[in-house]
Amino acid sequence: MQAENGAQNNDRQPSERVARLRKMIIGTISGAIIIPLCVSVALAVTCDRLSASLKNAKADLEWYHEHYQERTLVVDQESTMILDGSLNAQEEEQTENDEQSPVTEDTDDDDSDAIDDIRRVYLTFDDGPSIYTGEILDILKEYNVKATFFVVGREQDKYLEMYERITDEGHSIGMHSYSHKYGEIYSSLDNFQTDLHKLQTFIYENTGVWTNLYRFPGGSSNKVSDVDMAVLIDYLNKSNITYFDWNVSCGDADSGKTKDEIVNNVMSSVDKYSNVVILMHDAADKHTTVEALPEIIEQIQQMDATVIVPITEDTLPVQHIKNK
Ligand SMILES: [Zn+2]
Repeated sequence: MQAENGAQNNDRQPSERVARLRKMIIGTISGAIIIPLCVSVALAVTCDRLSASLKNAKADLEWYHEHYQERTLVVDQESTMILDGSLNAQEEEQTENDEQSPVTEDTDDDDSDAIDDIRRVYLTFDDGPSIYTGEILDILKEYNVKATFFVVGREQDKYLEMYERITDEGHSIGMHSYSHKYGEIYSSLDNFQTDLHKLQTFIYENTGVWTNLYRFPGGSSNKVSDVDMAVLIDYLNKSNITYFDWNVSCGDADSGKTKDEIVNNVMSSVDKYSNVVILMHDAADKHTTVEALPEIIEQIQQMDATVIVPITEDTLPVQHIKNK
């Protein structure tokens, strides 16, 4: 019996060795194929993500290049004019019979003052959504403050979410032209209308809000429109759309402004008016505006008889060129 068992063990040993060897060979071959395959797949996925990000970044860059260069020139010019008061002089020439300052609308303000003596401050953000919209919304939420966003048309998913967040979180949403291209929207009344209604519909489809608030790119006092601004204003009036300019600019149209300069630009002017519309930008090259926002809000909240509120259709508009 023992001899038989010994013979069986001897028979089994070579076949087990062969089986083990076979497993090792199969394992090695599998490893040699599967590991590089997995690495390749992971690399392909990463590469795909990176190229998508690069594509988005390029699209963003092109968008800003195309839309901002022109806007910066105009808005910067307007902001400067308002800050140094020269816009008053220009507008007074244009509106001969209008005794009210086109910038401050003080007479109207006095009316609202007479009612409750409260200073109303409207924080307005132009040109969004941008990569910083989420950050701006987070700050506004932290301080429990509602603002107004004058948006443009941006179709990427990451921006579509932002239109929704703006309205879901109780802020006002207004139009600032779909394309933000001066050469297009200000080339004819037809183009202006088409652009406006494209944006109005776009905002409605993404938020469920039909907005009748408008801010002209460059303001109603811009000097670049080929169409007489009075014609465009008349069109808005007939369409029951109210346009809002600003009487305080944070000065961020010049993207080189520091956080402290932005805070100072706002705070040195806020107490001049009882109806304060502050121009700021929600744009990829303006992170200092985001950095300045908490301090601006804190300082305004410390002012007596002052509230920060969003623009609504009932808000008394600040208009550089007055509604006739
Ligand atoms: Zn703009």
